[in-house]
Amino acid sequence: MASDDECYDYEYDYDEDDDDEQEEEAMEADEEGLFEDDTPMPDRPADCWAITQESLSIAQQQDLSMVMTLLNVKQHNARALLIHHRWKIDCIYDHLDRKGRDRTFREAGIVLHENINGKPLGLPSRVVNCMVCFDEFSVGAVSTMECGHYFCNDCWTEHFKACVESGKKQIRCMGVKCPVVCDEAVVQQLLAGEYPDAARRFDRFLLESYLENNDSVKWCPSVPHCGRAIRVGAGERYTEVECPCGLGFCFACAAGAHSPCPCTMWDMWEVKCNGESETVNWILANTKSCPKCFNPIVKDGGCNLVTCKCGQHLCWKCGGATGGAHDWDSIVGHSCNRFVGEEKKKVDNAKRNLHRYTHYYDRFKIHGDSHKLEHDKLGPAVDERVKLLEALLQDQPLLHDASWLTEAHRGLLQSRQVLSRSYVFAYYMFGGDDDKVRTWPKHRGSLPIAQGLFENYQEELESNVERLSKLLATEYGPVPEEEDVRRDKQNAMNLAKIVQTRCGEIYKCIQDELLPLLLDPMIIAAYRPRGPDKAKDFTTA
Ligand SMILES: [Zn+2]
Ligand SMILES: [Zn+2]
Ligand SMILES: [Zn+2]
Ligand SMILES: [Zn+2]
Ligand SMILES: [Zn+2]
Ligand SMILES: [Zn+2]
Ligand SMILES: [Zn+2]
Repeated sequence: MASDDECYDYEYDYDEDDDDEQEEEAMEADEEGLFEDDTPMPDRPADCWAITQESLSIAQQQDLSMVMTLLNVKQHNARALLIHHRWKIDCIYDHLDRKGRDRTFREAGIVLHENINGKPLGLPSRVVNCMVCFDEFSVGAVSTMECGHYFCNDCWTEHFKACVESGKKQIRCMGVKCPVVCDEAVVQQLLAGEYPDAARRFDRFLLESYLENNDSVKWCPSVPHCGRAIRVGAGERYTEVECPCGLGFCFACAAGAHSPCPCTMWDMWEVKCNGESETVNWILANTKSCPKCFNPIVKDGGCNLVTCKCGQHLCWKCGGATGGAHDWDSIVGHSCNRFVGEEKKKVDNAKRNLHRYTHYYDRFKIHGDSHKLEHDKLGPAVDERVKLLEALLQDQPLLHDASWLTEAHRGLLQSRQVLSRSYVFAYYMFGGDDDKVRTWPKHRGSLPIAQGLFENYQEELESNVERLSKLLATEYGPVPEEEDVRRDKQNAMNLAKIVQTRCGEIYKCIQDELLPLLLDPMIIAAYRPRGPDKAKDFTTA
C-alpha cells in the first residue's frame, strides 16, 4: 500500500531556500564574522523537531488538520491520504496536480459522497438485512461507510476487533473487494462499547502510524532509548540532526553523523573495519616506530608532527621522517594525503589493496584520534584559558571577550571529523574494491580531474587544521602579553574561517563533482559549520 512508486523521493537541493531566510542567515553569519563573502552560504538549518509520547498526538494532529482544512475532508480521510503518501504532504499535492482529486482519493481508499451528514446513506428501508449475518435490523443498529456499504453494528464490531488483533493499522470496509478505509470515529465508538482493550490498541495504532509509515519521522537511535522521535521537514531527509538527548545522527540511515561520507560508503566502511582482522587494525592503529632509531613512539597531542626522544621529527600520518619546522603550513615541505601507488606493477593485487586500505584507514584513524584528544584534553584546557583571559583582561574591552577561543576550538573539532570521514569517502570513491561504488563509464574520464580537485581541498584543509590545532595548544604564561593574545586571536579567527570555507568546498566538491559520476546516486547532508542541526522539543506552539 505504501509502495506507491510514483511518490517521488526527496531531492537534494542546495538552492531551494526561501530567499528571505537565506538573507537573514547571511546577516547572522556575518555578525559572527565566520563567512567569507565568496563562500557559498550553508543551507538554513533543517526544520527538525523532537517528538515525545506526550507531543506525538499534537504533532500528528498538526499534519492531519492541515490536510483536513486544505482538502475539506474528514479526519480519517486525511489520515488515509497521509498514510498512503507516507505523511508527505507535498507528495499529496503532487498527486492532486497530476491525477486530479477523484483518482488521488480513490487510490488512498477514499470515496466521497455529496450528502452523508452522518446519516445512513441509501438504506432501502427502515428495516434492513445485514449481508454478513443475514439478520434483520432497524437502521439504528446498522452503520454505513462512505462507500455506501452497510452492515449491522455487531458484525462491524467483530470485524474491527479481528483487524486490530491481527495488527492491521488501517481497517477497510467489509464489502467484497471494497478498498475504502473505515471511518475511525465509527471504529472507535463501536469498539469502545464492546472491546475497550481493542479500542485502546486501535488508538495506539493510529498514533504509531505517524511514526512507522512516515518518511519524515524517525526514532532517535539512542541506547537506552531517550523516548523521542525526530521529525524533519519535507525534503530534509538527508540531514544530520541532534536529538535533545545529545545524540547526533544521520537522519537518512540512523548511524552516527558521518558526512561528508555518503550513507552507503559509511555503512560499508563500518562493516569492513569490524571485519578486518584485529591484528591488521591493531598494527595500523598503534604502531609507529621512529624512522631513525626504530623505537616505538607514543603520540599524546592532536598535532601530527611528532618528535622522537632521539630528536628525529616525523609525520604521524605516514611515519616518514620530516623536518621540525611547523609554522604556518603543516609540516614544512611534507605532504602525504594522496595515495601514491608506488611500485604498482610489482606488488600483487591483494598486497596493493591492503596497502591502499592502510593508507586511508591510517588517516581516518589518526584524525579521529586527534579529534578525541582535542575534545577530551584540549577542550578543558581551552575552557581554562578562556577563564584566565576573561579574568585578566577585564580592563581591555577588545580582548576581554575570549569566546573566539571557544569558537575556534569548536571549528577545529568539526573540521577534524570532516577530515577523518573524508578519507573514508576517498577510499571508496577512488577505486575501493567494492562494486557497490561504480562510476558511469562515460564519466570515467572526469574522475581524475575531480579527484585532483578534491585532494587539493583535502590537503589544504588538513594543513590548516593542523595549524589551528597547534595554535590552540599554545599555553599562555600566568600573565599573558596583550600583544600575544591579540595576535593569537587574529590568527585563530582567520584559521577558523579558512577551515570552515575548506570544509564547505569539500562538501560541495563531493556532492556536485564526484557523486554525480556514480552509477548509484548518493547524497550527503549539507555542510553545517556548527555540527548537526539541533532538534527542538515539539510543543503546541
Ligand atoms: Zn450482521
Ligand atoms: Zn465498502
Ligand atoms: Zn534522543
Ligand atoms: Zn547516513
Ligand atoms: Zn628516534
Ligand atoms: Zn602539526
Ligand atoms: Zn606524512
